[in-house]
Amino acid sequence: QDPIELVRSLIRNVPDWPKPGVMFRDITPLLQDPRAFRALIDIFVYRHMRHKLDVVVGIDARGFIFGSALAYALGVGFVPVRKQGKLPYKTVSAAYTLEYGDAVVEVHQDAVKPGQRVLLVDDLVATGGTMLAAVKLLQQLGSNVVEAAAIVDLPALGGSSLIAKTDTPFFSVCTF
Ligand code: 5GP
Repeated sequence: QDPIELVRSLIRNVPDWPKPGVMFRDITPLLQDPRAFRALIDIFVYRHMRHKLDVVVGIDARGFIFGSALAYALGVGFVPVRKQGKLPYKTVSAAYTLEYGDAVVEVHQDAVKPGQRVLLVDDLVATGGTMLAAVKLLQQLGSNVVEAAAIVDLPALGGSSLIAKTDTPFFSVCTF
């Protein structure tokens, strides 16, 4: 089976979660399936093995799950971008707008070094607010975001086209 199709087939649609009218794309069946989880990591490994990455940065919280497996497979370090108030050491932060109110993401000040080549990952891009805030943080620290990537893109929500307007390349495994 085509690995991209395998990955796509194991994303579960959960209607009306977390609230009425929202169709949540649930990646847990994909993580649970050993062939699909490995296929997911391999898609990224083949894509990035030649890119001389220094670090994989994963976004809180589902970006941690496959981001850390990917960092291990690529033989590079892993850095978490977290929601506000979770990181113990000195941080830099970026605010972004959600449907209701604002949110803040943070990263440790010394998490990436100027010039380091970074792959940024999250499970899903909707409006793009989270991913763009994380890109901003990493650029603020002087790193080179080689790609911002997600398993799932929801193009109707406009996030991927917003990211495409920046200098940071965007990649997703599948779209809904
Ligand atoms: P955005 O900032 O692009 O609007 O929303 C993306 C963020 O919200 C990601 O961190 C993602 O984990 C989470 N998210 C929003 N909608 C969904 C969804 O339908 N499925 C999953 N798995 N995550 C979602």
